[in-house]
Amino acid sequence: MSKIKENIQEVLEDIKKYSLYPEKVKFIAVTKYVREEEIEEVLKNGIFNLGENRIQLIKEKYLYFKERNIADIKWDFIGNLQKNKVKYIADFINLIHSVNKLSLAKEIDKRAREQNRIIDVLIEVNVANEESKEGYKIQDFNLEILEYLKFKNLNIKGLMTMAPYTKDEKILRNVFSTLRKMKDELNEKYFDNKLTELSMGMSGDYKIALEEGATIIRVGTKIFE
Ligand SMILES: *Cc1c(COP(=O)(O)O)cnc(C)c1O
Repeated sequence: MSKIKENIQEVLEDIKKYSLYPEKVKFIAVTKYVREEEIEEVLKNGIFNLGENRIQLIKEKYLYFKERNIADIKWDFIGNLQKNKVKYIADFINLIHSVNKLSLAKEIDKRAREQNRIIDVLIEVNVANEESKEGYKIQDFNLEILEYLKFKNLNIKGLMTMAPYTKDEKILRNVFSTLRKMKDELNEKYFDNKLTELSMGMSGDYKIALEEGATIIRVGTKIFE
C-alpha cells in the first residue's frame, strides 16, 4: 500500500473514532505542498475535497484537472485572501474558509453576483487572539454581523479557526470548544441554525478538533509526510 493511501485511511479511521457525528465530517486534503501526481493519488483514494492557500496555485491546479476531466474536485481556499485576487477564483471556488474582513466579503459578494452564483464562505476567527494570525476577534465579528446578513450572493456556512502552534491539549481543546460555542450563539441570535460548519483541526490537532465538534478538518502534512 502506498504511503499516501495508508495515511488517508488512518485519517478516515480517526474521523470515525473521534467525531461525535462522523457522517457529517468533511476531510479536506490540503495539497499546497504537492504537485499534480500526488494529487492524483489522493483522488484515487476517493478524496475529492482539496484545499489550497495560494491563488496562483489553486488556479493552476484547478485548470490542470479541469482540462483533463479527471474527477469532480471541490476546491476550497484556506489561505489569506486579498481582495484583488477574488476574481481569479470566483467562478469555481467551492468554499472560502478565510473571510476575515467586511471589505473582502463585499468583494466576494460582488464577484459571485457577476458569476450569477452564490459563494459559500466561513468566517475566520482568531480565537486565541494571536498577534501573528489573521481572523476576527470574537467580539469584533459581532459588531459587523448585520452588514454580513445583507449580502445576497455570499452565504455564510460557519466558522473557521487555526489553533495556536502548541502541543498543550488543554489550550487546543479550549480554542475549539470556544469556536463551537460561538457558532451556537450566532445560530441562536442571528442565523436560525443555518451555520452548520466548523472548520478546525490540522495534522497536529485534528483528533481534538473532532472531539470538540469539527465538521471540516484540513489535513496536509499527515497525508504527504
Ligand atoms: C497548511 C494549512 C493546513 C494544513 O496543515 P497541516 O499541518 O499540514 O495539516 C490547514 N489549514 C490551513 C489554513 C493551512 O494553511
